[in-house]
Amino acid sequence: MICEILFVILNTSMLSNIYKETEKNILKEDTLLVKLVAHGKPFEEYDELFKDTNIRFTIIDYQGKVYFDSKQPNQEVMDNHSGRQEVFSAIYGNSGFAIRKSKTLGSYYAYYATKYKLSPEDRYIIRISEDYTEKMEQIKTVACILTLFFIFLNFVSYFFYKNYLKRDLENKIKIMKGFLESGELERKIFYGREEKWLYEFWEILEEWQKNNLDNIAKLDFEKKILDLIISSVDAFIGLIDNNGNFILKNNSLNHLLIVDSQKYTESFKYIEIITLIKNSISLKKNIRKEVYVNGIKEYFLITIKYIKKNDQFLVTIKDITSTRRTVEIQKNFISNVSHELKTPLTNIKGYLIALEDAPKEIRLRFLNIINNNVEKLENIVLDFLNISKIESSKILQIIPVEPKLIEDQIRESLFGIIKRKKAELNFNWNLLEINQGMINTDKEKLIMILKNLIENGIIYNTSEIPSIEVYITEEKSKYLFSVKDNGIGIPQDKLKKVFERFYRVDKARTSNMGGTGLGLAIVKELVEQFGGEIVIESSEHEGSNFRFYFLK
Ligand code: ADP
Repeated sequence: MICEILFVILNTSMLSNIYKETEKNILKEDTLLVKLVAHGKPFEEYDELFKDTNIRFTIIDYQGKVYFDSKQPNQEVMDNHSGRQEVFSAIYGNSGFAIRKSKTLGSYYAYYATKYKLSPEDRYIIRISEDYTEKMEQIKTVACILTLFFIFLNFVSYFFYKNYLKRDLENKIKIMKGFLESGELERKIFYGREEKWLYEFWEILEEWQKNNLDNIAKLDFEKKILDLIISSVDAFIGLIDNNGNFILKNNSLNHLLIVDSQKYTESFKYIEIITLIKNSISLKKNIRKEVYVNGIKEYFLITIKYIKKNDQFLVTIKDITSTRRTVEIQKNFISNVSHELKTPLTNIKGYLIALEDAPKEIRLRFLNIINNNVEKLENIVLDFLNISKIESSKILQIIPVEPKLIEDQIRESLFGIIKRKKAELNFNWNLLEINQGMINTDKEKLIMILKNLIENGIIYNTSEIPSIEVYITEEKSKYLFSVKDNGIGIPQDKLKKVFERFYRVDKARTSNMGGTGLGLAIVKELVEQFGGEIVIESSEHEGSNFRFYFLK
C-alpha cells in the first residue's frame, strides 16, 4: 500500500517536472521571439507590434514597477512585481520560473522572467506567461487514474486472496490439522510437489508426527511399567499435592483407606496416619516413623518425602506388624526358654548341695530327683533343637515308606514309657493298593508328629491301661490321620491354646510329667509343612482325638 502511494506520488511529480521543463522551454523561446521583435522599439509601439499574438508578456523595471503588459492596457492598476518569485530570481540572478494560481484570473499560470537590456542604463525584466490550467488538469487526471488503478488492483488482489489463496491455504492447513490430530502416520495426501515449500513443510510435519507418535508410545510403555510396579508393590504408595489431594495412589493396604475419596484427610480411616501426614505437609519436611494403629492393632512404617521441585508429598506405608510380632515372639521365646531351663537347673543345684550332708538312705532318692531333672533338661534341649531344625528346613523329603518301619521306630523310641505305664498302642493302616502298601511321606517328620501325639496320649492319661489307637487312611488326594487316646482330655476352652509354644493346660501338674509345652507346637508346624491342618476333639476325662491330614 505504501509502495503504491509512493509510486503514484513519484509518477505524478515526474510528469509534473516534464511538463514544467517543456513549459519553461516554450516560454524561453517566446521570450527570445518577443525580444527579437521588440528590440529597439519604444514601449508605445508594442501594442501594435504584438496585437496578433496570444503571447502575454510584461516589462518590469528592477524596482518591480510594470511598464508594459501585453494583456493589461492599464499598467497603473497593476501592483509592484518585485516580490513575484520569477521576477525576484531574474533581478538577482539571470532568469526565474514559477507556476502559480493567478489571483486576478483564478487559474494556473506559468511565468518565465529574464533580464531585458535596452541600453546600459535602461535595464528591465521581461516576463512571459502562459495559461497552465490545462496541463495542471492533465497532471491531476493522471494522478487520479493511477490512484483508481491501484485501488482497483488492491481490490482484485484482495478478492483473489480471499476467494482463492486464503481458502486454498485454509483447506491445506485443515488437512494438516486433521493429520496431526488423527495420530496416524500413513496419510500421504500431499502429492502437490509443484508447491515445493508446502511439500517440504508436509515432510517436516510427517517427521514430527512420527517422532511424536514414537515418544507417545514410549511414554505409554513406561507409564504402564510404572503403573505395574506401583500397583504390585505390597506397600501403599500415594502422591499428594499441596492441597492435600491424591494425584496417584496404588491399591495396596486398602483396609487403611476409604477408596473413593481424593482428599487424604478423608481417604485414610485412621487418625494416627492422618496426623503424621498433616505434620509433614504443614512443616514441608520429610518424616519416617513407625506408627501403631490402635483401631486394628497393627504396626506401620510411614515415610513421607517432600518433593520440593513439585511441591508434592510422596507417602509410603509399609505393614511391619509381622516383623514386630516376630521380634516379640522371639523375645518371649528367649524369656520362656530361660525360664524353662531355670527350674530343673535350680532343682539340680539344690539337690546336689543337699546330697553332701544327706544320710545314706535318702541319697538315692535325691540322685533320682537329680536324674529326673537332667532328663527334663535333655527333653527341653531336644525340643528346642527340633523346633529350630523344623523352622530352618521346611523342605519335605517324600519317599515311599513301609508302614511297619514307622511303627517299629515309634515303638522303639517310646518303649520305656509304654512299658512303665503298661500302655496299649495300635496302628490301623488303610492304604490304597495302588502303592503296594507303602505310604509316600517324609518319614522323619511323620514319625516326629506321631511320636509326640502318642507320647502325650500316654502321659496325660490316668486310665489303668492307657490305650492309643492310631488310624491312617489313604484317600485319592490326601492321607487322613487320627490319634485317639483314653486320657484325661482337654477342656473345650483350651483346645486352641495347646498348640501355642510353652502352653500347658495345668502347668503345675503337667511340668512334673516331663513336658516342655513345645510338643504340639512342633506337631502343628509340621502338619502345616505337609499342607494339612490339625484339629482336636476332646472333652475332659473322656480322652482326646487328634485328627489331621496331609495333602499328597
Ligand atoms: P508338653 O511338652 O507339655 O506335653 P505339648 O505341646 O505336647 O507340651 O502339650 C501342651 C499341653 O496340652 C500339655 O501340657 C497338656 O496339658 C495338653 N495335652 C497335650 N496332649 C494331650 C492329651 N493327649 N491329653 C490331654 N492333654 C493333652
